[in-house]
Amino acid sequence: MVQVSTGDLLRAAVAAGTELGRRAKAAMDAGELVSDEIVLGMIRERLRQPDTASGFILDGFPRNLAQANSLHEVLAELGKELEAVVLLDVDLDVLMKRLTGRRTCSKTGKLLNIHFSPQSEIDECLAAGGELVQRADDNEATIGNRLAVYREQTEPLIDYYRESGLLRTVAGEGEMGDIYARLKTALGV
Ligand code: AMP
Repeated sequence: MVQVSTGDLLRAAVAAGTELGRRAKAAMDAGELVSDEIVLGMIRERLRQPDTASGFILDGFPRNLAQANSLHEVLAELGKELEAVVLLDVDLDVLMKRLTGRRTCSKTGKLLNIHFSPQSEIDECLAAGGELVQRADDNEATIGNRLAVYREQTEPLIDYYRESGLLRTVAGEGEMGDIYARLKTALGV
């Protein structure tokens, strides 16, 4: 299935210097949510692409109740359906380390973490002549605000999707392979 990440779409718009990217940048730098109007426009356009016909995973969307309600309408318009909502459950201190330690290898594009990745994977990037690049909003001040915004605006979606019967909760700590296995079990695949 294709992964549809509103964060990736927004970062691409910022990097390309589009009007939309310019409008989104200040909110992203501050760890605030970008306006629903911008994000929904992007999602509507992305889900119209033919590669989503055989399934898609929404990543980082919806982020608040208004987006969740609009998603419902967009999917109805496009004749698509939401089959499940996954809550990857992670303790706050682990989450902080994942965010502050997150790096991307400039050469290979591989996602790494200075706290959790094996040294061999980090060395592999450096040996290939790559650098460990940190996302602009992965600094402590912005992360603090992103988590506050999560608690205020996104967390209510847990009850919202639990009530609709779509919520699947997966323990999101430990080895990646174990989490993946739990995810597949939760989704029945
Ligand atoms: P992410 O890559 O999902 O961590 O998102 C990075 C940043 O992009 C967030 O802190 C927001 O500023 C913005 N963003 C991503 N997805 C959304 C969304 N669904 N609604 C509003 N803002 C978003």
